[in-house]
Amino acid sequence: MPSKGYSVGESVMVKWPGSALWYPAVIMSIEDDEYKVRFEEGTEDEVTAESIRSAASFRRRSQSKSPSRRRSRSRSPARSPSRQRVSRSPGRKTPAKKQTIISQSKSETKVQLTPTRSKRLLATRSTTEVHTYTTRSSTKLGHQILEPVVDIKTGKVPKTVHYEFGGPFGAFFIMVSLPLFIYYLYFTCSKEECSLQLWPAHTCDWRDYFDLEAALLFLGWMGLQAFFYLLPIGSVVKGLPLRNGQRLDYKLNGFFSFILTLILFGGLLYKKYPVAMVYDKFLPLLTTAFIFSIVLSIFLYIKARRAPGHALAPSGNSGNFLYDFFMGHELNPRIGNFDFKVFCELRPGLIGWVMIDLAFVVKVWTDFPENPPWALLLVTFFQMLYVADSLLFEHAILSTMDIIHDGFGFMLVFGDLVWVPFTYTLQARYLADRPSLAVMPDYCLVIVLAFGLIGYYIFRASNSQKNAFRENPYASQFASANVLITASGKRLLVSGWWGWVRHPNYLGDILLALSWSMCCGFGSIIPYFYPIYMLVLLVHRERRDSDHCRQKYGNVWNKYCAQVPYRIIPYVY
Ligand code: NDP
Repeated sequence: MPSKGYSVGESVMVKWPGSALWYPAVIMSIEDDEYKVRFEEGTEDEVTAESIRSAASFRRRSQSKSPSRRRSRSRSPARSPSRQRVSRSPGRKTPAKKQTIISQSKSETKVQLTPTRSKRLLATRSTTEVHTYTTRSSTKLGHQILEPVVDIKTGKVPKTVHYEFGGPFGAFFIMVSLPLFIYYLYFTCSKEECSLQLWPAHTCDWRDYFDLEAALLFLGWMGLQAFFYLLPIGSVVKGLPLRNGQRLDYKLNGFFSFILTLILFGGLLYKKYPVAMVYDKFLPLLTTAFIFSIVLSIFLYIKARRAPGHALAPSGNSGNFLYDFFMGHELNPRIGNFDFKVFCELRPGLIGWVMIDLAFVVKVWTDFPENPPWALLLVTFFQMLYVADSLLFEHAILSTMDIIHDGFGFMLVFGDLVWVPFTYTLQARYLADRPSLAVMPDYCLVIVLAFGLIGYYIFRASNSQKNAFRENPYASQFASANVLITASGKRLLVSGWWGWVRHPNYLGDILLALSWSMCCGFGSIIPYFYPIYMLVLLVHRERRDSDHCRQKYGNVWNKYCAQVPYRIIPYVY
C-alpha cells in the first residue's frame, strides 16, 4: 500500500511512469497529491503517491524468500541497466552496438542483446514477444542524437479491433461518396455557374468522361514520375524502425523530380506542345485517375494477402475485406526498392497538382496575352510554394502518421492520385474558367499575399522546430526550453510554437489554405471548399493524433494537454 506522509528530501523508490519498474529517487517538492521527484540519474518528474514506496519496504522485500523476491530483484534498477538511463543522459556515450534490453514480456528474464543477437533471436522465435530498447547514433557534427524507442515485436501484427472512419460501413460510404463528390464539384462549379446546386447540369455521354488521349497522358505521367523516382540520384535515408526492428531505405529525390518536371514543362511550352489541353481534358483525366486508383488498390490488397504477417498495417488488419481494402492491409508495400506509398504520397499527385495549375495559367495567358491573370498567378505561386516545401522537406514524411501507422489502401491511393490533384486545383480552375472576372483590385492581392506568407511562415517554422527537436532535443536552441519527458525517454516540447498551441503547423496550413481561396474573391462559397475541408480534416487528424499520443505517452500527454490547452487555434479551439 502506498504510504503517504513522505517529506521533501526523503529517499524513496518511485515507479517509472508508464512502466512497472521502480527506481531510487529523492522527493524535491510536494503539492497536494503531486510529488516532484528526481531520479538518481537526474531525470525529474511529477508523480502521485501511488507511484511512491518507501526505500525500506524494498529492502525488506529483497531479503524475503518469497517467490516475489526473484521478480522484484530482476526488475531492480541496480541489476538491470535501464532503457531510461541509456536514453536520458545526454552527455554519456553509449556505443551503438551495445544496446540493452530492459523489459521483456512475461518471461522476466534479464538479457543484454547486441542487435546481431537480437536479430538471431527474432528469427528463431515465432510467438509474439516485445523487446524495448533505445538506440543512439552520432550525427556528422558529432552530436549525440536520440533515436526513437524501438519496440521490436516478432510474429504477426495483431488484429485491428478498433475501427476508425465508422468501420466497414463508413469505409464503404466514403469510397462511394468521395468520387461522386469530386464529379459533383466539377459540375456544380463550371464555367457557366459556380454555386451549390442540388442536381447540377451534367453530361451523360460517356465519351465526355473518358478518352484514350487523356488515359495515355495520365499513364505517361505516372510512368514519367516513376522513372524520375528510380533515377540513381538523391540521398538514401533510413525510415523509422518497423515492428521487427528493420529500417527501410528510402530514396529522397522528390525535389529533384519536381525541378526536372518543371524543366520538361518549360521545354514542351517552348516547343509549342499544347500543354493547355489539360484544361480541356480535366474530366477524362479525372476518370482515368479514379480507375487507376481502384486498380492499384486492388493490386495492393492482393499483394498484401501474400505479405508476411509482420508487414501488415496495424490499422488495416481487421479481417473485414472492405475495411482493410480501404485502410490499406500492408504497411509499406514495395516491389524491390520501389515503395508505392512514398512514391504516391509526394510525386504524381502533388507535382501533378502544380502542373494542372500551370496548364491553366498557360491556357488563360495565351487566350488573353494582354491581361496577366494576377489572381491565378498568385494561387499558382502559393500552391507551388506549398508543394516545393513538401518535396524539399521530403524526409519529414517518413515520420508522419501516413507512413508509420496507416496502411496503403484505397484511402491513401485515392487521396494521393485523385483527391489532391483534382480538388486542390479548384481555385485555379475557378479563375481559369473566368479569365475576365476582376475578383478584387490588384492591390488587394498584395494583402492576400501577405496573409498567405504569414500562414506559410507559421506552417514552416513550427514544422522545422519540431523536426529539429526530434532530431536533437539537446541542441543549444532547446537549452532553456520547457520539455516533458515521457516514460519511453522521448521528450515533448512545451516551448516555442509547441507551447503556444498543440498543432501550430495545422494552424499555418489552414491560414495558407484560406489565402488561396481569397484569391478567388468572395463571389462564391465553392472556391472556399478547400479551407473548409482542411479545417475538418485537420481537426479530425488532430484528434486521431492526440489519441495515438495518449496511447504512446499516457499521463505525460495529459500533462502536455493541460499545459497547452488549445489544440489548433489559440483561445478558440
Ligand atoms: P505533425 O507533424 O504535427 O506530427 C504529430 C506528431 O508530432 C505527434 O504524433 C508526435 O509524434 C509529435 N508531437 C506532437 N506534439 C509534440 C511536441 N509538443 N513536441 C514534440 N513532438 C510532438 O502531424 P502530421 O504528420 O499530421 O502533419 C505534418 C504536416 O502535414 C502538418 O503541417 C500538416 O498541416 C500537413 N498536412 C497536410 C495535409 C494536406 O492534405 N494538405 C494533410 C495532413 C497533414 P512523436 O512524439 O511520435 O514524434
